Amino acid sequence: MFRSLKVLVFFITVLSLDSLFGQSEEFEPCGHRHVIEDLESRFPGYKKEYDKMYQDIIRMSKSKTTSINKRKRRIKDTIYTYDTTIVIPVVFHILYSNTYENVEDSLLVNQIEVLNQDFQRQNPDTANTRSFFKSRAGSMKVKFVLADTDPNGNPTNGINRVLTSVTSWGTSNGVNNNMKYTARGGVNSWDPDKYINVWVCDMTYGGTERVLGFAYPPNSHPYWTISSLKAEQGVVIHYKCIGRNNRRATTNLLRSSNMGRVATHEFGHYFGLRHIWADDQNLANRCFYDDFIDDTPKQGTGSNFSCYPQRNTCTEANDLPDMIENYMDYSTHPCQNMFTEQQTRAMQSTLETYRSSIATYEITTTTTVIDTVEYDEMLVFYRSDKSQIIVEVVDKELDVTLSFDLFNIVGQKMMETVTIEKNETIIPASKFSQGQYIAVLRTGDGDLVKVQRLIVD
Ligand SMILES: [Zn+2]
Repeated sequence: MFRSLKVLVFFITVLSLDSLFGQSEEFEPCGHRHVIEDLESRFPGYKKEYDKMYQDIIRMSKSKTTSINKRKRRIKDTIYTYDTTIVIPVVFHILYSNTYENVEDSLLVNQIEVLNQDFQRQNPDTANTRSFFKSRAGSMKVKFVLADTDPNGNPTNGINRVLTSVTSWGTSNGVNNNMKYTARGGVNSWDPDKYINVWVCDMTYGGTERVLGFAYPPNSHPYWTISSLKAEQGVVIHYKCIGRNNRRATTNLLRSSNMGRVATHEFGHYFGLRHIWADDQNLANRCFYDDFIDDTPKQGTGSNFSCYPQRNTCTEANDLPDMIENYMDYSTHPCQNMFTEQQTRAMQSTLETYRSSIATYEITTTTTVIDTVEYDEMLVFYRSDKSQIIVEVVDKELDVTLSFDLFNIVGQKMMETVTIEKNETIIPASKFSQGQYIAVLRTGDGDLVKVQRLIVD
């Protein structure tokens, strides 16, 4: 009895969602698919290059190498390690033809807050991630800020308000780029190599919503360097769903997307992510194609403004339901609360390659390594916060096996010899008392490579 009641409730829910929104044939929350098609039509061969770029991002995200040089610098004779946060300036271009469209500053401020929370996994609803997905959640050390300097070097609050005579920017498929050009009634981007440009404008078409946003993905295509395309880099957000608790979200559809996560989703595309169901919803075998992200389950279609925990569109080994929590799904905003670990690594890869010019690095914590060794391609240091000794072979493939020994100052060996076979080896150091030690690295043949003083505190 209860079972059939539940089934009945589900069907009512599905029916009512479809009838509430009633636009599933035409409406999509995001115009990503159309962006790719538009670029393919303008630049034949684009899709192939885009796929290649995407595979590169995924490959890099899985590689072991870390950006050691970005977090470690030699200053005089003292070596510091840095924990860094990537800081990215954002400019909002508010295109309005009436005061209602001229969204208030507070929405843009809370939009930045939402982006930071979601990307750093500091969002207040992380507890809603289901237990079997919790360990897959990822975070990025990235901080979005409103730009404080405009392209001319003048102070700005990062909000560029432009009155326009254009009343709507939507098209039947939602990916009109006119808002990105002053000559077409929009506003030219600020240098896309230095800012993330976000155009906030009326994306309705024929009086109804078609897409809530779209973004241009990073690209390795040779045409990408032409100025007209570079000028289109950025994110477009419908003015009714910019920020959290936007009072303009007056329909059921918009109310289900009113936590500022349209921007989270579109920034995901901007940093190279695909939808988690791989946009193959129109193919016969929707479970064949994947987003190539290993820690998202296969998914056949996007959750069309639903939040149904039992949704499971593809069956696979070690089957799990669809990850409706994912920002790259089409689930309702209250349903969403995570990027996965591999998604964040993929976005990090994008930042370090295709979008490296946009990032500046802010030092959040500095650890002084108390030693005055020559900085060469081998480095041994002690990290007090985690009680670890780190042996690093910097930016170099290990072509010989090394051994590592630690002695106290009277020459007693403090632990078993450790074999160094990778770029970074972590040795637990909690059992070592405070004091000075001597770290010795030798080749497998016993040749001395490095002797270094180490202070454990
Ligand atoms: Zn999308």
